[in-house]
Amino acid sequence: MVSDNLKALYEKLPSAVKLVAVSKFHPVSRLMEAYDAGQRVFGENRPQELAAKVPQMPADVEWHFIGHLQTNKLKLVLPYVSLVQSVDSLHLLEAIDKWGTDNGKTVDVLLELHLGAEETKHGFSEDEIDYVISSEVEKSHVRIRGLMGMATNTEDEGVIEADFARIEALFKRIREARPELREIFTELSIGMSGDWPIAVRHGATMVRIGTDIFGEREY
Ligand SMILES: *Cc1c(COP(=O)(O)O)cnc(C)c1O
Repeated sequence: MVSDNLKALYEKLPSAVKLVAVSKFHPVSRLMEAYDAGQRVFGENRPQELAAKVPQMPADVEWHFIGHLQTNKLKLVLPYVSLVQSVDSLHLLEAIDKWGTDNGKTVDVLLELHLGAEETKHGFSEDEIDYVISSEVEKSHVRIRGLMGMATNTEDEGVIEADFARIEALFKRIREARPELREIFTELSIGMSGDWPIAVRHGATMVRIGTDIFGEREY
């Protein structure tokens, strides 16, 4: 049961780590089971699906967007979410900043670091993140709150460990180099159903968990 799964996770997770319930592909009735068990933070990865679910769920849900976002889909996402976790290009960051300017809103985002070897995965390189963090990129209506990453999809814990160590090091290096950002640049979103305990050991402040809460997704 969803409520049992959530309870088991909350018993193991350190209380300072925010649990984002990844509800993509699951119907609203399943999300409501989690809501009724006390869960308030939900993550979705498809704009249309998010926009359809928002009005069907109670207003105090905190929505995070965690998927690849195309700039022509911003209006399906940005009015509803408190955090876009998956900003993976300068083009997208600039489009979000422009949307924020046009709509009088400041949008909280994480920058997604490309981890692992898979060619298909989205995300910035470390150099690109350094460039975006530097003051050279216009971001009057976005606040960069931290980093997000997905470890290599493997059973090899050593590889996952190395991926999380790399993003943790970048996160700490930015915080050390830019003390003026320390109050804002506070979030490290790493860890999913298979690997969240490793992520917690590497300083995760948020974990994004779907399968361990809702069971397998039907595609
Ligand atoms: C689907 C997804 C998750 C959750 O994956 P599970 O293995 O089901 O926990 C986490 N992060 C992102 C970016 C996802 O797309």
